[in-house]
Amino acid sequence: MNREKHRKSLEKGYYKTHACKESFTCAFCGRLVVPQGAGTEHRNHCPNCLHSVHVDHEAGDREADCGGIMEPVAVWVRKGGEWALIHRCKRCGKLSSNRIAADDNPMKLLSIAVKPLAAPPFPLEHIGGLTKLLNDETTL
Ligand SMILES: [Zn+2]
Ligand SMILES: [Zn+2]
Repeated sequence: MNREKHRKSLEKGYYKTHACKESFTCAFCGRLVVPQGAGTEHRNHCPNCLHSVHVDHEAGDREADCGGIMEPVAVWVRKGGEWALIHRCKRCGKLSSNRIAADDNPMKLLSIAVKPLAAPPFPLEHIGGLTKLLNDETTL
């Protein structure tokens, strides 16, 4: 580890107040991730596979010692329509929410978003009947 990087990593909360301008190699897919193109100053996941590494308690504080790979498990919509990703640490199970970046892989995001629809916990053929029931109730 180079000296400058080491010093920064020892400073608590450094990345909360400073933009992260460092490139890193994705721990999951191995792609070199550069800060340019994210549209945000805190790129915390790989734009290719959307995985992250568990290094923060709060976004940007770098205070977690876990270091586990964080898997993107869900997408949710913030106020104003902005998408965010839910990451789950494969090692300790911690969940965290992260804003998506401008250059995140759109197909990957979509595939995460539709996953629950592809595997519904109830039979889809019942939906027709349920919709009819609802309609009948509202027209009564
Ligand atoms: Zn990756
Ligand atoms: Zn963890």
